[in-house]
Amino acid sequence: MNIHTYFEQHGFPLVAVIDLAELPEHLAVLMQSVPLEDYRRLVLTANVGRSFWPKVKENWASSQHPVDDYSRHVTQTYAQTYLPDDETVLLYPTQEHLIPLQQLGQYVGWSHTSPVGVGIHADYGLWFAYRTAFVTTAELPPTEIDTRPSPCLSCSDKPCLSACPAQALSATAKIQLDPCLDHRIAEQSSCADRCLARLACPVGQADYQYSLEQIQYHYTQGFEALKAWHLGKKSK
Ligand code: SF4
Ligand code: SF4
Repeated sequence: MNIHTYFEQHGFPLVAVIDLAELPEHLAVLMQSVPLEDYRRLVLTANVGRSFWPKVKENWASSQHPVDDYSRHVTQTYAQTYLPDDETVLLYPTQEHLIPLQQLGQYVGWSHTSPVGVGIHADYGLWFAYRTAFVTTAELPPTEIDTRPSPCLSCSDKPCLSACPAQALSATAKIQLDPCLDHRIAEQSSCADRCLARLACPVGQADYQYSLEQIQYHYTQGFEALKAWHLGKKSK
């Protein structure tokens, strides 16, 4: 089966196959734990919109890390089934490798910097996320780089900025984490389990915005650790 069809059927419509011979040096140096010269392709996958979450719930409801477990399972099954004669190594999600997912996403044209602090895609807006990365000796056909510009460049109203109750966002600078986190950890915070600025972005909103359940899952995962880190930083 075609790699794009396989991953799309499992909730990962974004698949980039990168010819490692073409990988720019500034990205290769960020992946020094991987002997890239032993492989031919680097593959990056991402979930988009709402199709992914029901599959995670259906198969991994009892897991402590359902998203990573499902993503690993889908990728390992692909390699075992469709690339049985090639060597394939999962790079993400694993504990062994640090992979520059954001930079790779920018390189393949999926992601542009946005005021909200997460990457934005020309079609899917803020509603996609990197799920797996792997290298393989298989000569999979490389995908074309998406050269479309950031949708933020043509977004004149920028509703994300006014939707942020902490005034943490600006069109020209990075998100200010301190006011954002102060607001998120406050009693009865409107951002405890969601980002109102992300919800306000019109790009891909109607077709790809995650369900509230999925949004709440992602925003509450690790929230207590984030809160402890922020409070610890403030007390110094
Ligand atoms: S609302 Fe406009 S400026 Fe803000 S993230 Fe969306 S497209 Fe970019
Ligand atoms: S989580 Fe809330 S406070 Fe933080 S950037 Fe989003 S809207 Fe602003």
